[in-house]
Amino acid sequence: MTTFYHSTRNKNNRKTASQAILQGLAEDGGLFVPVNFPQLDLDFKTLQNATYQEIATLVLKTFFDDFTESEIRTMVDAAYGKKFDQPEIAPLKKVGGVHVLELFHGETLAFKDMALSILPHLMQQAAQKNGVTREIVILTATSGDTGKAAMAGFADVPQTKIIVFYPKNGVSPIQAQQMLTQQGGNVHVVGIDGNFDQAQTAVKAMFNSTELREKMAQNGKQFSSANSMNIGRLIPQVAYYIYAYAQMVKQKQISIGEEINFSVPTGNFGNILAAYYAKKLGLPVHQLICASNKNNVLTDFFKSGRYDKNRAFHVTSSPSMDILVSSNLERLIFELTKEDDQATAKLLTELSVDGHYEITAPMQDKLKDFVAGWASEDEIIQEIKHTFEETHYVFDPHTAVASSVYHQLAPTQKTVVVSTASPYKFPAVVLEAIQPKEERTSSSAADGDFSAVAALQRISGLALPEAIRGLETATVRHHTTVKVEQMQSEVERYLGLS
Ligand SMILES: *Cc1c(COP(=O)(O)O)cnc(C)c1O
Repeated sequence: MTTFYHSTRNKNNRKTASQAILQGLAEDGGLFVPVNFPQLDLDFKTLQNATYQEIATLVLKTFFDDFTESEIRTMVDAAYGKKFDQPEIAPLKKVGGVHVLELFHGETLAFKDMALSILPHLMQQAAQKNGVTREIVILTATSGDTGKAAMAGFADVPQTKIIVFYPKNGVSPIQAQQMLTQQGGNVHVVGIDGNFDQAQTAVKAMFNSTELREKMAQNGKQFSSANSMNIGRLIPQVAYYIYAYAQMVKQKQISIGEEINFSVPTGNFGNILAAYYAKKLGLPVHQLICASNKNNVLTDFFKSGRYDKNRAFHVTSSPSMDILVSSNLERLIFELTKEDDQATAKLLTELSVDGHYEITAPMQDKLKDFVAGWASEDEIIQEIKHTFEETHYVFDPHTAVASSVYHQLAPTQKTVVVSTASPYKFPAVVLEAIQPKEERTSSSAADGDFSAVAALQRISGLALPEAIRGLETATVRHHTTVKVEQMQSEVERYLGLS
């Protein structure tokens, strides 16, 4: 049986998996979700011995069944191979009383590599399958990590271009340097003078513009998305939740069938939605802990049923989670409305017009698969510090948010804390937390990321990843910055449309 996908804002808008991946966002502004959600009989007696690649193949062939199993296996092997610095791809480690799922062993040191190393393969194969000969232009807004991971995946991929918009003052120095030094003849990086939400809103508007879509078509081009709004980005993430559970079984931490929690550091609600999809597929999950930083719009939503983006925006030490409009929540809302596309469209329109919406009490009752909390800047530092003192394990600030919220909620089930970035991606903040007091000078954090790398290596003893070596002195190749209002004209200029 073929799994079709339809839009959360118009169920008559129906596609195959490959068409949905190619398109990214639905024309009506909605997101593609499976029409009939697949179920799997997950046999962990066998799966505990499966490789990451085998589990990824199982998940992808279940959701994307207009690709053949052999096509999927080839793509999986190309994606999850030597670009990762650990053969397990996503190692699970015991740290104190929790289990940490390390998702940062790919090329760009953040969990975005888990999906973005396979998305370009899916996109190319999907183009071939559908006879698409136009150039695919990947248009992406990034809070810091998606941009680099997407460029690393799409650089010099034939028949594609990639344009990345990032908040010029809203990413870490290492994140900025990673993006600005990106090589490849088909990549374009643009800093904007706004925040991630503004970048994401402008990108969505370009996707939804009929006029721009026609102009692109006349020039032999079409847009697609590398953000987690693309189902081709979301589904590969389901695999590591199943893999994590299999490792828990294998390491004899749980018995088969025992329910566990995942604590997920959340921004755009993509990663945690993939965990929810794993649960729907049949994974024994008790609850998903939605962990936010000071931009705690989701914490309020899960507690009150009211989503309100009209609030101060904070630039924090976990910049990849500095988001007030979590796009993937729309996929959950669609379920809460019992798949009512009109009701979903109405709520999301309220959000864009008034900046807030409220769900009904029966809808709120269905949120019991989730529990939410947030960590302040100080709690993040304390979490990194005491974890290092007690276990010698080093958290990056995003992972520290998830760990802190887990400790605040203290659930009784075994819990996997999802680690989304290497501490070397945010070394100044991490160093400030773990450096012994006597070594600390008042300017240590302000010295910046690059000077913190060596000290972090010395104090933590953690191997320096390949991606950091030589980064400071690499050639900066991208210099474009624009105002938010100029984003579309910059796209048209770069693509030669105007
Ligand atoms: C993107 C990102 C997140 C947030 O993930 P979402 O899927 O947007 O919720 C958390 N941590 C890091 C390091 C990230 O790059």
